[in-house]
Amino acid sequence: MIHITIDGPSGAGKSTVAKAAAKKLGIIYLDTGAIYRAFAYAALQNGVDINDEAETATFLASADIAVGYTDGGVQNVFFNGADVTEFIREHNISKAASDISRHIPVRIRLSEIQREIAKRRDVVLDGRDAGTFVLPDANFKFYLTADVEERARRRYAEIKKKNGTGGANVDYEKVLSDIKIRDFNDSNRSFAPLKKAEDAELIDSTRMNAEEVAEYIVKTVEKKTGHGRRE
Ligand code: C5P
Repeated sequence: MIHITIDGPSGAGKSTVAKAAAKKLGIIYLDTGAIYRAFAYAALQNGVDINDEAETATFLASADIAVGYTDGGVQNVFFNGADVTEFIREHNISKAASDISRHIPVRIRLSEIQREIAKRRDVVLDGRDAGTFVLPDANFKFYLTADVEERARRRYAEIKKKNGTGGANVDYEKVLSDIKIRDFNDSNRSFAPLKKAEDAELIDSTRMNAEEVAEYIVKTVEKKTGHGRRE
């Protein structure tokens, strides 16, 4: 079984790298942030006070979150049977996912969902605690980071491109401060915080593009397992 964990802060390029590495190896990319986002989205839709742990836990008890994959390996995420994939990328959902992910019952339950998915297949998963808490026995662990200004520049470019408006409604300074807040929240929560696993390999992508990082990861896996690449 190949289990590759890629942890690190927001904007380090984890999802781009994980997606590219999964494609090259012909295995599944599990976007764990999408699971947190789907739960946060549903909680907001249902008027849950996401800062209230007890209220959030009650909502969690009736939540059924699942992921599915298209033939092309694209992940869709479902909440109580409804496909919510297209609603979870909004800026306010990023903040809500970060807030809701602080609650211990949420982390435990959403981690179980991730383990269940990984149990049956080879998988690359990215997150904050994939190598430390979700799959501590994963055979390949990486911690991907980059300077905070570089991460903010990448997020800013991504948002600008998505808006297609020349970025009229995004401000680099706001993106930078949001990333700093998320870094702080993710690294300082008491339970399963963002942290490099002791046995994870550190990759600083400040001066590397996603393709170079993905290639490095694939070569590492190939060398150790003999698993051939699919593309
Ligand atoms: O990775 P993404 O930006 O989609 O994640 C959204 C938020 O969900 C993160 O800021 C983080 O707080 C939370 N998250 C988490 N653990 C994960 C994935 C995401 O706490 N494994």
